[in-house]
Amino acid sequence: MRFPHRHLYPGLINPLRWNHGHKALCFSGLCSELRHFPWGNLPLLLIPLFIPSDPDWASSTLGVFICLSCSGIHRNIPSISKVKSLKMDHWDDAQVQFLAKHGNAVTKATYEAHIPIYYYQPTYNDCQVLREQWIRAKYERKEFTEPGKQLPYTDGVKEGILWKRGRDNGQFLPRKFLLSEREGCLKYFTKQDSKEPKISVKIDVINATFQPAKIGNPNGLQITYLKDNKTRNIFVYHKSGKEVVDWFNAIRSVQFHYLKVAFPIASDNEIKSRLTRNFLKEGYMEKTGPKQREAFKKRWFTLDHRRLMYFKDPLDAFAKGEVFVGSSENGYSVQKGLPAGTQGNFSWHYGLTIVTPDREYLFTCETEADQLGWIAAFTSVINQAMTPQEYAIEAYFKFKS
Ligand SMILES: [Zn+2]
Repeated sequence: MRFPHRHLYPGLINPLRWNHGHKALCFSGLCSELRHFPWGNLPLLLIPLFIPSDPDWASSTLGVFICLSCSGIHRNIPSISKVKSLKMDHWDDAQVQFLAKHGNAVTKATYEAHIPIYYYQPTYNDCQVLREQWIRAKYERKEFTEPGKQLPYTDGVKEGILWKRGRDNGQFLPRKFLLSEREGCLKYFTKQDSKEPKISVKIDVINATFQPAKIGNPNGLQITYLKDNKTRNIFVYHKSGKEVVDWFNAIRSVQFHYLKVAFPIASDNEIKSRLTRNFLKEGYMEKTGPKQREAFKKRWFTLDHRRLMYFKDPLDAFAKGEVFVGSSENGYSVQKGLPAGTQGNFSWHYGLTIVTPDREYLFTCETEADQLGWIAAFTSVINQAMTPQEYAIEAYFKFKS
């Protein structure tokens, strides 16, 4: 049978959980395999009204519905998943029954039963390596089916090679990295046998975020840390997607346990929200200097929560400058356009102005979409009240300038 005839199977209405469909995921913003979306329990007859045109996919061996994007990943793991179109492929009765008996909710209860709280569960806009390893971890390696399983990111210590981009020559070379929960730090060594690390960074000032496009490698990971209130970037990759995602989750695991000890009264979810974070926005803008008469220069900008950094090259080790972005109650705002009468030559015409208690920062974007995207990102930060720690950071920025 084909699935357009699924109304012939009224018994399937409840067990089938339509938690997944490419379109649904895209506008629900919840995508991660098997996650719920609002019409998860709609009667089957109504579903075509909500998921109208795209072909929908399912894994006949796992018994789950999957979106277009995840179907490609499943197809690459034929040993565990056989992907079929609901609309175009033939489903025999046994397969329909299997799908009916399982479905996303039941399958989630099995394969996602024991995910460590710090484990990063990707969403639809995460990169390929994160989503692929998430799917492989669940079904191929069955990492979450039983509690307390020992995995490469659960031990509180990890040692291995990552290919690190040289700060000056841009060449990627193998470097030994060591992560230790006991010491609360991440180190790397320039020589395999050297005793002294090139750097040793406290785990609570580290961030890690996948940046495949910027780094030019599908498994590219950006590690940043604060040194004297300045952000230092390190770019690494490993040819194995599993290895680089294991590193990422190992860092999150060590951070989680470190913060648990440092903030014993914080809830697990509060601590989870303080582990690695993705940047709010990145991209090119033009900027001028404090006099607002200097020529506008094209720079790469990164908004990392309240830190706006700009770089000459996206892969620079240090930012050329960092600006603290506070909250509206403290005199910060973002405005569309440049102040009237702004001089100086800028080649891009979609302006925006960040107002801080001390000065105005003038930027121009190449497209209106960029301009609106940056304004939305700044607005989301400025609308949040500042925490006591953030007041301290703001004071540090003021002291420095
Ligand atoms: Zn998906």
